[in-house]
Amino acid sequence: MIEKVYIFDLDDTLFEEHSYVRSGFFAVASEISKQHPVSEEKIYDLLVETWLKLGRGRVFNIVCAKLKIDLDIQKLVYLYRNHKPQIKLYEDAETVITQLSRNYKLGLITDGNSQMQWSKIKALNLEERFDCIVVTGDLGRDFWKPHELPYKKVVESLNMSYDQCVYIGDNPNKDFITASKLGMGTVRIIRDVGDHMKLTLSKEYEADRNIYSLLELIDK
Ligand SMILES: [Mg+2]
Repeated sequence: MIEKVYIFDLDDTLFEEHSYVRSGFFAVASEISKQHPVSEEKIYDLLVETWLKLGRGRVFNIVCAKLKIDLDIQKLVYLYRNHKPQIKLYEDAETVITQLSRNYKLGLITDGNSQMQWSKIKALNLEERFDCIVVTGDLGRDFWKPHELPYKKVVESLNMSYDQCVYIGDNPNKDFITASKLGMGTVRIIRDVGDHMKLTLSKEYEADRNIYSLLELIDK
């Protein structure tokens, strides 16, 4: 297979998604502390502790209840999604993007709330480094991975065929099954940190190849 397009997932592939969560919690803690006599450190610590213990679903509700603070949770969610993230690319991602972009086209497909994903892309300065970016939040909830539309959009907009593309992601639940069916190569990055690192699924959900550093993409 001739690989001419490298299409990446974003969260936990190119940067540590948990660093975005912490960055968002910090923005929210800072805002709450402006309105209530509780220190931003205390609120931040509670947000992180609650998230690690109970997951991220109802973190703001739980922490506000604990601190007896009456705030509109939707506003906190809005603040979280619209904050300016303090995040950076993984070192191997930085190197690989620079090197691959010299010889190949680069694509990005990422699921999630549109506003939130674009703010990550902007904070990481990826717009100028990628040839095509698809945020599935822009397409509608039905078209998130593993729907084939985002893959199709990138491949068509770059005027390539599926067998010229390889998709690199971290989540076997949704990253590889459709890419494989369409005839793309697939690579799973397994890092120390991330929600899916310990997950193994049946063969059709897994990638052609597992790697432990993105540098393995250029070590040939
Ligand atoms: Mg991911």
